[in-house]
Amino acid sequence: MKHLFFSFFFFCFFNLSAQNINQCGDRILKHQLENKYPGITEIIDKSFKSAKTKSPQKSAVLSIPVVFHVIYNKEAENVSDDLLHDQIAILNEDFRRLNENAIDTREIFENIATDAEIEFFLAESDPEGNATNGITRTFTERETFIDIEITDFLEIITECGFDFENPAVFDCILETLGSGLEIDEMKSAETGGVDAWDTNSYLNIWVVNVSLESAGAQQPFILGFAYPPTEAPNWPEGTIPEDIESKDGVVLHYQVVGRNNPEIGVLAGINDQGRTAVHEVGHYLGLRHIWGDGDCSMDDGIDDTPSASSNSQSTVAISMCSDLHIKDSCVDDLLPDMLENYMDYSLESCQNMFTKEQVDLMRSMLEGPRSGLLSNSISNIENTPSQNLVISPNPSSGQINILGVNEKIQVKIYNRAGALIMQTDKASFSIMSQPGLYFLEITDSNHHYFERIMIQ
Ligand SMILES: [Zn+2]
Repeated sequence: MKHLFFSFFFFCFFNLSAQNINQCGDRILKHQLENKYPGITEIIDKSFKSAKTKSPQKSAVLSIPVVFHVIYNKEAENVSDDLLHDQIAILNEDFRRLNENAIDTREIFENIATDAEIEFFLAESDPEGNATNGITRTFTERETFIDIEITDFLEIITECGFDFENPAVFDCILETLGSGLEIDEMKSAETGGVDAWDTNSYLNIWVVNVSLESAGAQQPFILGFAYPPTEAPNWPEGTIPEDIESKDGVVLHYQVVGRNNPEIGVLAGINDQGRTAVHEVGHYLGLRHIWGDGDCSMDDGIDDTPSASSNSQSTVAISMCSDLHIKDSCVDDLLPDMLENYMDYSLESCQNMFTKEQVDLMRSMLEGPRSGLLSNSISNIENTPSQNLVISPNPSSGQINILGVNEKIQVKIYNRAGALIMQTDKASFSIMSQPGLYFLEITDSNHHYFERIMIQ
């Protein structure tokens, strides 16, 4: 079983093309963690199983406060506020199944594709309680947070082989890299990074350069990685490693943040939809790779995802999503490979869904080991369902009417990033803002209700 998660990009430098980009992963983290904390993977596995058995609450939107730590050496790495806001919007669209390409989900999977009812917003107060825009920016002397030279890496893969999907090859690479590969240094000021904000209360996302370097040239190496949740009560006494808590969160390579990233470079057409973050947050909330990181005998622990013998990038020549649709790598299974899933490695433009059981697991984790994230969120309000409360029209051109509320009403309107944009005590009002998704928090003596609304 694979327990730790990692989206990992090796470029085959001798023939750089989309087919030769290989995302491979979780074995590096597993290797390192097992070395430092023997038994940790078993503990995380227990947590996964126990979360699966809990049935999550339904019909409450769970919101997660996010802080981006942008750490840059060159101005190009100092990702703009606009891209970070777009990244939040992408997370919200994909986790709420409001993504434009949701219509591309094949019919065979339509019934199990679902809205996770999980949302994200930029933190409004920092750990000291000061107001914040949810973004920190820090200059670093470090040109990359991966400490391997391309030439050294090439030597290693020349020795071990290029077939990264082959476990023996991958293990050889890891053995040779040894413990010298530190991947968490962006998470500490002492090593040129930025310390996490309380990882129990915030989803920390470090945006950094994790390229391989050679004589000043850089190639993306890791696109992102994340630690899965751990269930503290399951941990043997004395072995809850404090530094894991300080490392919890998501790391994103600066070139894959948001859509229309001006620095996308060689990743254009492959990882250009801001979905590395969606995939990594999936890991952060407990999901595994959809192919189970192994052949048809390996599973991701989720019952409604089909088996697959590998990820969808490594076995089929990729140019269009329809090329990938032919892939059905495990014949015992009546379903084709679900390349639409965010936890595959398919082209990001082909990804468009989570399954119901994936959603159940993520929500269980969020209501269990990650419940600290929910405490200060604007929308973790227990909805009081009301048959007589109607918000119309929805979608709207801007004018909103709320029917069925009493006179003492208060309405707060938040944008997709979770910022309060207006409030009113009227049941009819106009939202004079750009088209997009907004959230209404409606309070009167009978209701405390949270609803999303689309302005066209
Ligand atoms: Zn992954």
